Amino acid sequence: MNPPSPVNPDPRRSLPSVDRLVAELERRAPDAPRWALLAVARDQLREARDQIARDGAAIDLENVIAKSLRQAARLAEPAPGPVLNATGVVLHTNLGRAPLAEGAVRAATLAAAGYSDLELDLSTGKRGKRGARVADKLVRLSGAEAATAVNNNAAAVMLALDTLARGREVIVSRGELVEIGGSFRVPDIMERAGVRLVEVGTTNRTHPRDYENAIGPDTALLLKVHRSNFEVRGFVKEVGLGELAEIGGRHGIPVFEDLGSGSLIDLRERGFPRDSYPPSRLTEGADLVCFSGDKLLGGPQAGLVIGKSEIVEAMNRNPLARALRLDKMTLAALDWTLSALLGERPEQDIPVLASLLATPDTLERRARDLAERLRKCLEVLGSEVQVACETDRAPVGGGSLPGFELDTWVVALRGGEGPESLAARLRSSTPPVVARNRDDALLLDVRTITDEQLDPLAASLELALR
Ligand SMILES: *Cc1c(COP(=O)(O)O)cnc(C)c1O
Repeated sequence: MNPPSPVNPDPRRSLPSVDRLVAELERRAPDAPRWALLAVARDQLREARDQIARDGAAIDLENVIAKSLRQAARLAEPAPGPVLNATGVVLHTNLGRAPLAEGAVRAATLAAAGYSDLELDLSTGKRGKRGARVADKLVRLSGAEAATAVNNNAAAVMLALDTLARGREVIVSRGELVEIGGSFRVPDIMERAGVRLVEVGTTNRTHPRDYENAIGPDTALLLKVHRSNFEVRGFVKEVGLGELAEIGGRHGIPVFEDLGSGSLIDLRERGFPRDSYPPSRLTEGADLVCFSGDKLLGGPQAGLVIGKSEIVEAMNRNPLARALRLDKMTLAALDWTLSALLGERPEQDIPVLASLLATPDTLERRARDLAERLRKCLEVLGSEVQVACETDRAPVGGGSLPGFELDTWVVALRGGEGPESLAARLRSSTPPVVARNRDDALLLDVRTITDEQLDPLAASLELALR
């Protein structure tokens, strides 16, 4: 573009028009979408005019162009964009929790792209019930009397509280008034659901008599909340679900557990904790249990509810259910996931299960494979970064199984500019890689990396260290 005219006294006059700037941006970035170029051209010219008004100095047009191109590229990227999860944390909240199975993705795509029998019974031609088949599969998997699914687990809790206890009292232990992931706070949800919270016990100890003493004519529900993201140790007493159900049964008050996370295949025999299997919570006496679709279950974001028919039907009839319902893409992905759980090889079909149940041999082989590729790249680059294969332990994450860790294999990177700087470089590489730090090393944990991702991971590292 032409330099600003030296005879022009007002530097604002030297700025190009939006159209001229867009034309120049298009010339330099022919693949960038025009809407993005137009948007950044407007923003950048406004900013430049403001800056001139503030300091009166002329603007370097090349700077404006370079900044515009960077911002247009950023604006045109898909959001959220894909990243490689090398943290080993299978249900990483910041990385979108459960990755969906390929089959579930195809099911969601099909449902999204065309018409479907979402609410039509094809055999009668009459109106059908959205989600009926998902509910049926949840019942088959859990052995519960009834089941339903809503938008997420927070919605399930809200709907259950509103249905069972609106305007009445709900008793919760002070040890379970938890906050999960910053925005889900049990007391706040209860307030919004219009129920009166009756806190019993203390942070570390709650006894059966605490519940007994709090029960009155207005008590609608006994609530148990899974602690999900922390542990209490030491001088601790909690009323178990069985005991709580016994108290509820004696007083004719239902017991509802917000379990947060659970799998519908029984992982307990594979060394996972006893509260990882929601159906067992019903056997222990809960009337209703809810948990997330995109945590241990390995499906899309959803709130899954299993329990007594009477309660589930009342929840489905609640006008709030309409506001919390699942969309057709999620429903299709959830249906596919539940079918895979009913099928012969859920551990192969569902990525979360594949990651959680990966054998030490598989993990070691993958780590050695990755290390080999990285060594080659680093050698070519003449880098000082050292590569080593090591064992480590990592949590499952995503508000699941606090205090429970899995043995894993990692590729440790040491030396160079240090782990923090290396981590930052990897995050801004292509594709972005998120790893975890331990002491002086940056660890690439292969539990959450598939064999197909080894190549892009090595390529991203090479780019980052260039
Ligand atoms: C994760 C979790 C929630 C929130 O679930 P979403 O599916 O994210 O809405 C609520 N309660 C507990 C105990 C949890 O662990």
